[in-house]
Amino acid sequence: MGVNMQALTSRLKQVDRRKMSFIERLYLVAIFKGMMITFMHMFKKKPTINYPEKTRPFSPVFRGLHILNRDEEGRENCTACGLCAVACPAEAITMEAAERQTGEENLYREEKYAAKYEINMLRCIFCGLCEEACPKDAIYLSETFAPADYQRKQFIYNKGELLIPHPKEDPEAYKKALGNRVKRESIN
Ligand code: SF4
Ligand code: SF4
Repeated sequence: MGVNMQALTSRLKQVDRRKMSFIERLYLVAIFKGMMITFMHMFKKKPTINYPEKTRPFSPVFRGLHILNRDEEGRENCTACGLCAVACPAEAITMEAAERQTGEENLYREEKYAAKYEINMLRCIFCGLCEEACPKDAIYLSETFAPADYQRKQFIYNKGELLIPHPKEDPEAYKKALGNRVKRESIN
């Protein structure tokens, strides 16, 4: 059963089993050494941040919670074509299509729209294929993530939760929801 520990790590340290002296048994030197290490850390740069007051910047390729997009007039972009659901490898998207009625042109950009649109975030693997499949720029993955919850049903996000705020009725919330997407698009 002789396992060669030396081969497993370069930080192996032999345990010192000699009898401790009186001074060592007082542990004052060891405590002082420990306090010095703590004290030295007070002057080092903190590796932690005060989350949630502060957040770290996301990677430019981060894929988070989905947003159902509107155009600049606030009309829903989605035409309920179902391409995102077909492209989804996790079968996380379900939707129901409806015909746009006369007088609803200010609500929906296309003649068909998603009356129901749901994403099961417990199934989703945040691959971004739904965004790539969409021909209408109607869905994209944002820089936020689904908050934790105690109930599984809370992770099924409906259209109301996914839809971006109206750009004219709530421009502040719209801008916030867009996040760095504006910057990324201007780079492209
Ligand atoms: S990110 Fe991927 S897994 Fe999630 S809903 Fe879109 S296609 Fe499906
Ligand atoms: S989000 Fe895009 S791909 Fe999905 S149903 Fe709507 S228009 Fe089609």
